[in-house]
Amino acid sequence: MSDHTDIATLLQATRFAAEKHRFQRRKGTDASPYINHPIEVADLLANVGGVADLSTLVAAVLHDTVEDTETTPDEVEALFGAEVRALVAEMTDDKTLPKAKRKRLQIEHAPSLSAHAKEIKIADKISNVLDITHNPPAGWSPKRKREYLEWAERVVAGCRGVSQGLEDRFDEVLRNARAFDRNGLNRLDRWGAGGRDFLIRVSPTERVTERQAILCVLAKVWGMKQGALAGTPTTK
Ligand code: NDP
Ligand code: ZN
Repeated sequence: MSDHTDIATLLQATRFAAEKHRFQRRKGTDASPYINHPIEVADLLANVGGVADLSTLVAAVLHDTVEDTETTPDEVEALFGAEVRALVAEMTDDKTLPKAKRKRLQIEHAPSLSAHAKEIKIADKISNVLDITHNPPAGWSPKRKREYLEWAERVVAGCRGVSQGLEDRFDEVLRNARAFDRNGLNRLDRWGAGGRDFLIRVSPTERVTERQAILCVLAKVWGMKQGALAGTPTTK
């Protein structure tokens, strides 16, 4: 993707998806606008996976429109072509099936997805694992989050071999999610539940809430103070 027409098409798709998702919010406690998620997926593909294929980036931006809005596959094809329609279809679960079956089918179908659909799928799971870590759906128990991480890991296992960059990033965010869980930081997340958390980016993949950042600074200052006290000469 390089010329003006491609950029114009990607912007058109972004505007189309924003319009379709305009009344939807993510399930996280901060209820961010839904469109943030498909934009993040396209960003991960371009800037982590190095994906330059226009249809893949457009399909990433549109990947939840057919599943989660009234958008039809015909509408997608009329505006963005048959290749994008096919990629979006590969990302669309059959919502007439029970949820548990849909989740099982995602694992089973992953190995037979096209290479571009596998790339989108991995980026989708990176985005969702980041949200589970830093902005999880309200009311999800640690057990439910862990089950989601296990499921995402199994879906991605069936998509491997298409992008080392995306696969490495997935492994990293999954490791972080599990470390976050083990360190009990999820519990800190529940402080002042209902308030909006200001997220601070501390590395390309790590975002911490303002409360967590303050706690880290306090812990550091406390550690330094303890060290200084330990080193203070004492008089008898
Ligand atoms: P959901 O499928 O209901 O929710 C996860 C999906 O929601 C993600 O894949 C993502 O999809 C979207 N999403 C929106 N906002 C967020 C966010 N902030 N963080 C992460 N994901 C977000 O949940 P489950 O994966 O748990 O699947 C439901 C299944 O779990 C059912 O089978 C149900 O029976 C079972 N269940 C399990 C419980 C347990 O304790 N284990 C309890 C209750 C139900 P997208 O990319 O499409 O936006
Ligand atoms: Zn998605």
